[in-house]
Amino acid sequence: MKTYEISVKGIVQGVGFRPFVFRCAKKYNLNGFIKNDSSGVFILIQGDEKKIEDFLNELNSNHPPRAKIISIERKIIDYEEMKDFRIIESEKKEIVSTYISPDIATCDDCLKELFDKNDRRYLYPFINCTNCGPRFTITFGIPYDRINTTMSIFKMCDECEDEYEDPLSRRFHAQPNACYKCGPEVFLLDKNLERISCDWIERTIELLNKGKILMIKGIGGYHIACDAYNSDAVKEVRKRKRRGNKPFALMGNIEMIKENCYLNECEERFLKSPQAPIVLLKKREDSKIPEEVAPGTDELGFMLPYTPLHHIIIKNINFPILLTSANISEETILYEDERIDRLKDIFDYVLTHNRKIFIWNEDSVVRCFKGEIYPIRISRGFVPEPFKVPIFSDKTILGAGSDLKNAFCILKGDYAFTSQYIGDMGNIETENAFYKALEHFKRIYSLNIDFAVCDLHPEYITGNIISKIGIPHIKVQHHRAHFVSCLLENNILDDAIGFIFDGTGYGEDNNIWGGEVFYGNIFNQERIYHLNYTPLPGGEEGIYNNWRYGISLLYQSGFEKEVENFYRDYEYEIIIQMIKKKLNSPLTSSIGRLFDGVSSLLNVCHRNTYEGEAAIRLEKIAKRTEDHYEFLIKDNVIFYEDVIGNILFDLKNGTEKGYISFKFHNGLSDLILKIIKIEIEKKNFSYVVLSGGVFQNSLLLNLIYDRIKEIKLNPVIHRKLPTNDQCISLGQTGIGYAFLRKNHF
Ligand code: ZN
Ligand code: ZN
Ligand code: FE
Repeated sequence: MKTYEISVKGIVQGVGFRPFVFRCAKKYNLNGFIKNDSSGVFILIQGDEKKIEDFLNELNSNHPPRAKIISIERKIIDYEEMKDFRIIESEKKEIVSTYISPDIATCDDCLKELFDKNDRRYLYPFINCTNCGPRFTITFGIPYDRINTTMSIFKMCDECEDEYEDPLSRRFHAQPNACYKCGPEVFLLDKNLERISCDWIERTIELLNKGKILMIKGIGGYHIACDAYNSDAVKEVRKRKRRGNKPFALMGNIEMIKENCYLNECEERFLKSPQAPIVLLKKREDSKIPEEVAPGTDELGFMLPYTPLHHIIIKNINFPILLTSANISEETILYEDERIDRLKDIFDYVLTHNRKIFIWNEDSVVRCFKGEIYPIRISRGFVPEPFKVPIFSDKTILGAGSDLKNAFCILKGDYAFTSQYIGDMGNIETENAFYKALEHFKRIYSLNIDFAVCDLHPEYITGNIISKIGIPHIKVQHHRAHFVSCLLENNILDDAIGFIFDGTGYGEDNNIWGGEVFYGNIFNQERIYHLNYTPLPGGEEGIYNNWRYGISLLYQSGFEKEVENFYRDYEYEIIIQMIKKKLNSPLTSSIGRLFDGVSSLLNVCHRNTYEGEAAIRLEKIAKRTEDHYEFLIKDNVIFYEDVIGNILFDLKNGTEKGYISFKFHNGLSDLILKIIKIEIEKKNFSYVVLSGGVFQNSLLLNLIYDRIKEIKLNPVIHRKLPTNDQCISLGQTGIGYAFLRKNHF
């Protein structure tokens, strides 16, 4: 007989891990106990040595689906003989390395009960178990116990308590466990926030049917919802939210999704995954979803219901609903009940409940690329689960992220903890959200930040925040961070070539970068090519009014005389003057801007009402052709001037715009390949990194990905974080780590 102390780290709390261990111990006839502690779970196991081995194997190979084991350590000890196996109460310890689970979509077992007339939780909108339900968004402290969640104010009834205490129940220590008798309840409010006494299900369905705009409380915040087939309602939401053309997300059951979108096996798998993200899907030509939902694109973002409340609603209607984060323009999603009146100009009614959301988490957005996940926004369902990186940092390093699509990242040991999606900096709401999320991560993981990294941009709010907090820090160039981020999440320490095609990033020469080619690794990156610098008339203003950049492209390419033909209806003369006199016209090497300008030249889109709109529209009109435009490379600068000349030539000859767009995409793909072929003669690398917002363009990504493989190199793309600026903070921590090592800290 042997006794072992076993310590298991990872996501092992709130995911049914202890009852699983309990059952294993019984199966192998072993005695001892298990308890949660701040480092994970602690197991004392006693019995036949061979059976203990079997027991450990089973822990590793057969654990509950939502558990994630990071390490199992064991030690033989002397211990008195024990009579049984037990689960004992948690204790709080100093060292914290347990991880709180992300929020998980309602599981099939709970769904069966939810719609079972004989179940005591029939249509109870807060049904959950250890395999599903809210976690991160309701937890304010560790260890993960009911007392440290917003469920602490609900005292369980006897029946719930029995489930909670029974190791063989699916609800054993399911912290949000509740029922009609003892748990939270749903209620409907009118526009004046007066409670309406009614059957909330009946009334909600009625209101949706009538085309009313509802604000509905979800897991990580409130959403604005309406009948997605009702184009007037959709238009009204757009108007009230003052939201340009940015697409809205939708929720429906799988049949509704199939009626409106093409769905492959991979996309269906993502939709049905426990993370239940929004999946970007190709819209069917015969879709009933009105154009207003996602103007100018042929894609729709759909998610399946992921809370019992959503399931109840969707089950009772025969149309999908629009479901978009409740917020004012680019602010963080609204999640605090006390503040719902801030959005009273948007909703007609509020469907809410009294289970508090402690911290927000927005819906995640993903795309399927080559059968695997290609993230667009990583938040609910994924955060706060950390992931492993190929470096080990003794210091705890914070990457503050970018000011657009902000999320921070904390590197500790060989794990990266990325925050939930925070949003675009530039208003007090998101700034406060940053502080709150940072405090939250520090608390739930007991972290003390030793060192920070922020963007080089002198006007970035994230930079100010770090200065205010007063942590020692360095500033790092945006596109180096893109490059290193992609290397880290793909576990690459070798040298690689990196194509960073992006919107905007402040450069080391004070110009605006965004079409950069790097060579190197996480320690050193050499900028080996960049797009020819071009004036961006009005800076930020020229990004929004992208027609200005169309003028700049013409001017730079020697077609000043053509400007009037293209921009007769615009104040083009002022723009020309700005360019000539170098007035408020910073130079940029951005590929994102090149897309903007070309989109305007083709009369596809002259104003970005949301980030990337002009480029997205340009991509969407593309019609397949083998032809391409050719970029020139001279002295490590990439020249696009001939491309513009050839586009003008094609326009004059009446070439269809769809082909021009495709030739432009082909040209960029050829450019990447051409540079690889030049560099492979001189250098030794096998990895080709593709990062930056431009690679959200799936046409370009598709065109280049296979061609890199054909020449026996490995394309490296983002698979854990988005290729857009949400990935910046991870790259910053990597460069911070390299800096500390170089300087022997
Ligand atoms: Zn469940
Ligand atoms: Zn109960
Ligand atoms: Fe970027």
